Amino acid sequence: MYSILAGMNVVKSNHHKSRPSQYRPYKHMLNMNSIPSPVPLSQITNFENQNPEISVNMLYMDNREIIPICTSKFCQKRKYHVNLLMLTDDYKFHYIYAQSLSRLVGNRTSHRHKTYICHYCLHPLTKEDNLNEYQPICCQHEPQQIVYPKPGKNILKFDKFHYQFQVPFAIYADFEPFLQKNDDQSDTHVPSGFCAVTSSIFVEHDYVLYCYREKTL
Ligand SMILES: [Zn+2]
Repeated sequence: MYSILAGMNVVKSNHHKSRPSQYRPYKHMLNMNSIPSPVPLSQITNFENQNPEISVNMLYMDNREIIPICTSKFCQKRKYHVNLLMLTDDYKFHYIYAQSLSRLVGNRTSHRHKTYICHYCLHPLTKEDNLNEYQPICCQHEPQQIVYPKPGKNILKFDKFHYQFQVPFAIYADFEPFLQKNDDQSDTHVPSGFCAVTSSIFVEHDYVLYCYREKTL
């Protein structure tokens, strides 16, 4: 609850801003009726329904990687938007307010300047305008984490040849044109020839070559 109030920036002075006691006078700003404390993830939607000026996204640190686990459907539609980071310790959990997403996940990009982080997928963008366009589209999807494959494991090759169905015929063909310049400097592709070769389980049709070349060549 105090983390939400911190995200709403209700305490203006920086003096002892991290102390819960600073936020107690503002508890009335939140409607916590029938919501247990600490608030389980399953109650975030109820919290948002009871507090129509606040939207909440929940982040989680998984193996030193920060991922969004619960995102609000009220993207950019409410007066206050708060990003919370869920910390777990065995069976206990609590939340802290994530004041700056670019500081929290900014080290994931090689970009040296300030980045604008999407609150929904944590993707960094270089311009605020781009973020404002990107985020309403991104928030329509479920929370997600982008994981890039490591070097050495980033090439996918087809190796399930045994799952292929044998087909009676396959034809491999190539088509060649010449480029002819037009008056407006554009190009027209003028066909000049083609070649096709068949591959078949029937011996009489296997490796039969068809070639055509324009007679004027
Ligand atoms: Zn996003």
